[in-house]
Parts: sequence; structure tokens; C-alpha cells
Amino acid sequence: MSNPSLLILPGDGIGPEVMAEVRKVIDWYGDKRGLAFDVSEDLVGGCAYDKHGTPLHDDTMAKALEVDAVLLGAVGGPKYDNLDFSVKPERGLLRLRKEMDLFSNLRPAQCFDALADFSSLKKEVVAGLDIMIIRELTSGIYFGEPRGIFEEGNERVGINTQRYTESEIDRVARSAFELARKRGNKVCSMEKANVMESGILWREVVQKVHDEDYPDVELSHMYADAGAMQLCRWPKQFDVIVTDNLFGDLLSDAAAMLTGSLGMLPSASLGAPMENGRPRALYEPVHGSAPDIAGQGKANPIACILSFAMALRYSFDQGDEATRLEQAIEKVLADGLRTADLLGEDGVDPVSTAQMGDAVIAALDASL
Ligand code: NAD
Repeated sequence: MSNPSLLILPGDGIGPEVMAEVRKVIDWYGDKRGLAFDVSEDLVGGCAYDKHGTPLHDDTMAKALEVDAVLLGAVGGPKYDNLDFSVKPERGLLRLRKEMDLFSNLRPAQCFDALADFSSLKKEVVAGLDIMIIRELTSGIYFGEPRGIFEEGNERVGINTQRYTESEIDRVARSAFELARKRGNKVCSMEKANVMESGILWREVVQKVHDEDYPDVELSHMYADAGAMQLCRWPKQFDVIVTDNLFGDLLSDAAAMLTGSLGMLPSASLGAPMENGRPRALYEPVHGSAPDIAGQGKANPIACILSFAMALRYSFDQGDEATRLEQAIEKVLADGLRTADLLGEDGVDPVSTAQMGDAVIAALDASL
């Protein structure tokens, strides 16, 4: 059988710096665990614009549709801020998401014990936290028609439309239940069924999918505003949260910040299963290209390494190896290593991007 294939798109700014550390981890799995990947690398974002005049070349798009998973660094930077909207670096990322039809966006909020003091919440509220927010990514109010700013009488009116079909809700609900089965087996669905018809339909469809195909998973429903409150009050009550595009945008950002630094946050965007049964998948850190620290060896590579751990778990069915990698990171942090973004006032010297990557490799070695 051929090796699973991975397309790596490091992108701009700190993207290539953090991706270099992920390459070390990928090589480690090939050398030490017999888990080799066919890796190809290509351009996305500003660097692709510099070479091809477009932030995503058609050939790169075609490759992304062929491989088992795509791993992306970050795109953008001040050099590209004044480009026409149609060729801005972010358009490359949006094209990938759209053409791969990545409707399910997974944003974990996981708090490593060693960093619990970093959260703005009390340590006991966040220590050991491990929740997953699934946001519907390709429909809802950001896409619904009609939309626009229109004249109405003697004033203007701004309109956006929240619109969900049953099949759109059905497929994201399924991805939440499937995921819950690989985790704590609990799903909380959030909407505003008290004031929105789309919320009523959302709740009905999620309940139906559950009753017909996932009765073994514990399901609860919560209004999204109450959910926001509960996330801040006692986030550990949740395992998987599934919600629409708008509420998911807000709730996942709030949940992510429970855990501290942007440099620690991975994400995955999944689509429908391909012929080989694997979902179409794009893995990327939540952070951007951080032009303020690019080229200085200061970037924290952990978000990007954790994105690869998600790929191991969700694309390649290597949950145990994903856990091994997460535990290696946990160990490195427990040993006190910190990149600059993870430093408080305690006077510890920061390690560089490469030193953090090397320490993760050493912890992986020690796990054998
Ligand atoms: P950003 O995430 O790049 O940076 C925000 C702050 O967090 C900066 O101070 C940065 O130094 C710090 N930071 C981010 N990642 C870090 C890491 N791994 N280690 C240490 N510190 C880290 O967001 P921004 O400054 O708003 O945007 C910069 C550029 O990135 C813009 O061009 C923006 O459009 C783009 N962007 C891209 C993506 C993406 O590729 N998915 C996401 C967000 C922003």
C-alpha cells in the first residue's frame, strides 16, 4: 500500500518557520514509527502571488484535491495589504476551503497544565480543559441571500440572511457525533431556537440525526448566549460543541482564549469523505503570519505541530500517535521551555522556534 499523502503549504511570514519544525516531526514518525508520508510542498498566499501573480495557482489547487490532507502555515503580510481584493493572500486560503468544500471547522480548546496560569480565568476552571468546538463553515449568515445595503424609503438598510438547509445541518451534526465517539462521547448543540426559525430547524435536525444514527452519544441543546456564559463559567462541562457559522465564529474565539496564547491553537477544516473514506481535510494553526516577529526565530511552532497531531487523529486514524505527540508537547512545557509568547514576568529565557521543535523531538524519542 502506498504511503498517505500530505501537501504542505507553509505560506508567508512565520508560516515557513513553524512548518520547518513540523517537518522534523513528520520525519520522526517516518524514521521511528514506520509511519511515512508522501510529502509535497507548494506555495500559497503572498509567496504564490510573488511567483504566479495569484495567491493559489490552479496546479496547487488540483494537488490539494488529490492528497489525503493539506497542512498550511499562515498567509498574509503588510507587503500585500494594498493588493486588489481578488489576489490578496487570504483569497488563496478561501479558495482552498471553498473548492475542498470544508464545511466542518474543528477548533479545540485544550489547556496544558503547565500553562494554566496563562488563562484569564482561574487555574482550576481551565487546568486539564479539553473541548472541541465544531463550527459550520460554508453556509449560514455569512453566505445567505439576500444580502447587501439597500435604499428603503429615505434611508439605507443593511441585510444579511441566516439560511440553513436540512442537509447542511445534517452533515455538520454527523461530523460532531463521529468526533464525539473518538473523544468523550458528548455533544452540546448551540443555536437560538427561542428566537430564530433557522435555530428551530437546526435543533430538530441535530436531534433527528442523533436519534436515528448516534443514540449512543449523549446529546444536549443550549441557547448560544447561555452557552457563551457556560463556557466562561465552567468550560469543562463540555466535550464537543456543534454550532452554526456565526455563533461558532464567536464561541470558538472565546473558548480558544481560555487557554492562553495564539501560538498554541491548532485547527482542522473537514469536508465530505473521499473515495478512500478519509475526509477532505485542511489543518492549520489559528494564528496568522505574525509579521511583527517573522524571520527572528521567535515564533511558537506548537500550534502548527498540534495541527499535525490533529491530522494524525482525524485523517490518518493514528489517535495513539496523536496522543504521543500531544504528551511530548505537554512534557516540554512541564519542563519549563517557553517561546517568547508564553513568557510572563518570571525571568525565564525564551527558547527559539527551532529549539522548541528540537525539544519536542527529544520528548518524542523519550516516549519510545
Ligand atoms: P497574527 O496571528 O499573525 O498575530 C497576532 C499576534 O500574535 C502578533 O503579535 C504575533 O506576533 C502573535 N503570534 C501569532 N502567532 C504566533 C506564534 N506562533 N508564536 C508567537 N507569537 C505569535 O494576526 P495579525 O497580526 O492580525 O495578522 C498578521 C497577518 O496574518 C495579516 O496579514 C493577516 O491577514 C494574516 N492572517 C492570516 C491568517 C491565516 O493564514 N489563517 C489568520 C489570521 C491572520
